[in-house]
Amino acid sequence: MLKHAILYPLFLVVGFVSLLIGIFGGSFAWFFVVLLLAVGMTAWGAFDIRLGYFTHTFFRKKYNAKGLIALSFDDGPSPHTAEVLELLNTYQFKATFFCIGKQVLAYPDIAKQIIDEGHTIGNHTYSHNRNFGFLKEKEVVAELEQCNSIIQQIVGKKPKFFRPPFGVTNPSVAKAVQYTKHQIIGWSNRSLDTVTLEEDKIYQRVCKRLKSGDIMLFHDTSQRTVNVLKRLLPHLQKQGYISVSVDDLLNLHGYED
Ligand SMILES: [Zn+2]
Repeated sequence: MLKHAILYPLFLVVGFVSLLIGIFGGSFAWFFVVLLLAVGMTAWGAFDIRLGYFTHTFFRKKYNAKGLIALSFDDGPSPHTAEVLELLNTYQFKATFFCIGKQVLAYPDIAKQIIDEGHTIGNHTYSHNRNFGFLKEKEVVAELEQCNSIIQQIVGKKPKFFRPPFGVTNPSVAKAVQYTKHQIIGWSNRSLDTVTLEEDKIYQRVCKRLKSGDIMLFHDTSQRTVNVLKRLLPHLQKQGYISVSVDDLLNLHGYED
C-alpha cells in the first residue's frame, strides 16, 4: 500500500534531483513530472479514504463469507432518522450512525433512540465544517472532542469511531486522530445519495457494487434515502445479507471504556 510517510520523502529527494537536472541541464521537464505526480498522489490520498494514504483507515471487512455488511448513515440525527430506524427495526438490521455534534444537540431524543435500539454512534465532528480539509491539527482535535463530549452528555457513550466529513484525510487529520485515539471508518460502497437525485440510480449503484463485508455509506438526511432503503432492505434480506454495526463487522470496540 502506498503511504504518505514513504512517498513524501521520496518525492522530495527525486524532486530535488530533477530540479538540479533542470538548473544544470537546461530542461525542467522531469521536475514538472515529479511535481505533478506529487500533487496528484496527495489529492488522491486525501479524497480516497480506502487508500489509508495518510493514516490507517478501516473501510470493509476482508474475507467475509458470512453475508455480513454494515449499513452506515452520516450527517444526522435529522427528522428522517426516525423512519430509517423504523425500517432497520422491521428487518432486524443494525447500523452505525456517524453523527454531527450540532445535530445531536438539535435532536437528542433521536440520538438516544439510536442507542436504545442497539445501533452504534460514531463521531462526524461537531460542525461538519465545509473547509474541513483545510483545518489545522488543533482545530480537528477541537471538532472531534466537542462532538465526543456532546454524544457522551446525551447518550452516555464516548465514540471511538470517526468518519471525517467528505471522507477527507490529510496530515492534520492523521495527527489529530493519533492524539484523540479515534479509529477512522471509511466505506467500500458509497451510495452518492446526496448528489444523485434519482432514487432508482442510487439503488442500482449500491446493488451493483454489493459484496459481503461492505461498509455502505448513506445519509439519514433525506426522504430520497428513506425511499431507497424501503427497496434496498428487503432486497438485502432476500439475498441473504445481514447488516450489523461497524463494531460487530470489524470486531472493534465502538466506545471508550
Ligand atoms: Zn458528512
